[in-house]
Amino acid sequence: MHIFSEQKITVKQKEEHSNMLVGSDLLDNVHKIPFFEEDQFSSFLLLVDENVYALYGKRVLSALKKLKRPISVSCIPQGEKSKNFENAGKFLKPFFRSTLTRESCLISLGGGVTTDIGGFFASILLRGIAAVHIPTTLLGQIDAGLGGKSGMDFWASDGLMYKNMIGKIEQPYLVVSDVDTLSSLPPSEIKNGLGEMVKYWAGWGTPSIAQLAKIRDLKGQDAQTRAEIITLCQKIKLDIVKNDPFETKGERQKLNLGHTIGHALEGVAAGKLSHGEAVSIGVVAAAKLSQSIGFLTKEKAYYIEDTITSLGLPTRAEKMQVKKVFSALSFDKKSGTFVLIRDIGKLETGVRVDTTLVRRVLAEIML
Ligand code: NAD
Repeated sequence: MHIFSEQKITVKQKEEHSNMLVGSDLLDNVHKIPFFEEDQFSSFLLLVDENVYALYGKRVLSALKKLKRPISVSCIPQGEKSKNFENAGKFLKPFFRSTLTRESCLISLGGGVTTDIGGFFASILLRGIAAVHIPTTLLGQIDAGLGGKSGMDFWASDGLMYKNMIGKIEQPYLVVSDVDTLSSLPPSEIKNGLGEMVKYWAGWGTPSIAQLAKIRDLKGQDAQTRAEIITLCQKIKLDIVKNDPFETKGERQKLNLGHTIGHALEGVAAGKLSHGEAVSIGVVAAAKLSQSIGFLTKEKAYYIEDTITSLGLPTRAEKMQVKKVFSALSFDKKSGTFVLIRDIGKLETGVRVDTTLVRRVLAEIML
């Protein structure tokens, strides 16, 4: 081996500011949000999924048109399959047909799939342009749309999907959550968001079970109630992201409660389990693992499982093989360790658990 030269430089990471708005009647008034009025953008690139385009696309477009900048639209198929990295070129194409400059702003309108892809595209287009998210699902508003993680999945040749394996952490400039958009969500999507909210309850003790029940019956709740609960969840996530934006201090890992096993289940289910459902089962698995190593009493672990059941969320995975889930687990980015529960609202990160116990718990959460 010959090394003829070595030079080092230290480059300071840029400071990122992210603004989170939660409100109602925002879609038709996007152009009035001060951030857009400042005239800082040369053009807008709108990434939107086909369902959301049909519901809200025209309204957002007509508001954006009032800013008198070129707009290009990339309309992508709905659902997780769009996050397949192989789609990237196809989805980016419409943006190259318009005036794409470093002052362009990429707006993602849709659920977590769209904001994950849009955030990723904004971070790589011209090596980085501004990203704005307008999450329209419950999951997007309480979790996926904020925190700056973006990415796409990688599908291996054996049919296994490796979640979020290609992506970045870069904060969106602005996140606009219009709680009115939640009214058009099908019950399955409310359940999906509720699955992630259960993570906040188990890990931080808030929202309360009563608030979670209000979200389950979301359509009967007024905009202010919705906004209050959503803001509460956002605050938990943002406080953590602020202190550990790049997941280097262990703090941010707490947000992965239920996700290590949840992601593996989601990957093996290949579309048959929503993200929130997978997380909800993942939280039950985390409670069982916590019990197996003495962090939680049997009663507390049951209490967590019972609460999750009472909210109408799944606690078991159907028709899966322990072997397959275990093998998907070993490819998780945080492989080998788990976020476990010491008590409701008290988490412990980086816990190693004997593989025999992991397999036993996986068997317990299979139907
Ligand atoms: P999604 O984006 O696929 O949306 C779910 C469905 O709801 C889609 O069919 C969509 O078309 C439809 N939809 C969206 N808004 C609607 C509305 N207002 N009314 C009616 N239908 C609407 O899924 P999701 O659950 O929002 O997000 C899941 C994704 O988020 C996963 O890929 C997950 O990995 C990712 N995620 C990312 C983070 C992060 O920090 N980046 C966190 C959690 C989850």
